[in-house]
Amino acid sequence: MICDLRFAIYDAGVSLPDNLNSIQQRISAACDRAGRDAKTVTLLAVSKTHPPETIRTAAGLGLLVFGENKVQEAKAKIPLCPGKLRWHFIGHLQSNKCRDAVHCFQMIQSVDSLALAQEINKRAADAAKTMPVLLEVNLAGEASKFGYTPERMLAELKEINALPRLEIHGLMTVPPWSAEAEKSRPHFRRLRELKAAAEQALGAPLPELSMGMSGDFEVAIEEGATLVRIGTALFGPRVKAKPRAEDDYF
Ligand SMILES: *Cc1c(COP(=O)(O)O)cnc(C)c1O
Repeated sequence: MICDLRFAIYDAGVSLPDNLNSIQQRISAACDRAGRDAKTVTLLAVSKTHPPETIRTAAGLGLLVFGENKVQEAKAKIPLCPGKLRWHFIGHLQSNKCRDAVHCFQMIQSVDSLALAQEINKRAADAAKTMPVLLEVNLAGEASKFGYTPERMLAELKEINALPRLEIHGLMTVPPWSAEAEKSRPHFRRLRELKAAAEQALGAPLPELSMGMSGDFEVAIEEGATLVRIGTALFGPRVKAKPRAEDDYF
């Protein structure tokens, strides 16, 4: 299975070093346009569906932060990857997966309800950890996506902030899909404004804005992104395989 995937990836003509180089140049150029220091933007490599071998190669090129959207998949892969890596959870989190998520990840980017935040808090306390989180906002109210409405996020913010084992580091969003990056700009701008509103409500700064994917990360950086989540532009198209068993990684 691992070999099949690797061949699928490299047969498609994907060169990880070339892709990374080009993404880093595009990040720098976007930072220049926005008058930002490129060090303020972290490239989060979205490694979902890709095998540990690919992740090790990416780590060898200097990538340090990886994103996964399935707890089971991450739980199987992370032990096979270099120990120095940092892992962010970017998918929808079910409450029965919170215990594993707290063990596997250094940040959960997809908190979208008080109940979920309370469960993460409980599991983090069990593990004697403090969990950095982002609150996910569904800005366009898309029924197909998870995430808070802006109003509800602001309404629950203080109660989440009061949970002792959670640290709110900022906001995350996935805007409606579009082939045109510019279509994402108003959503990114809105998330930045919401972050300012949340900071005002909390009376404390929130450092992170996680927004921008392969198709629109430059626009996201121009609008203030500190974390860009990039999968396809780095690793090539994801292979739509059958649902993968844990064994597939061994
Ligand atoms: C898959 C995924 C990404 C990466 O998308 P690409 O278009 O492949 O860069 C980013 N964010 C989230 C939440 C994802 O699920």
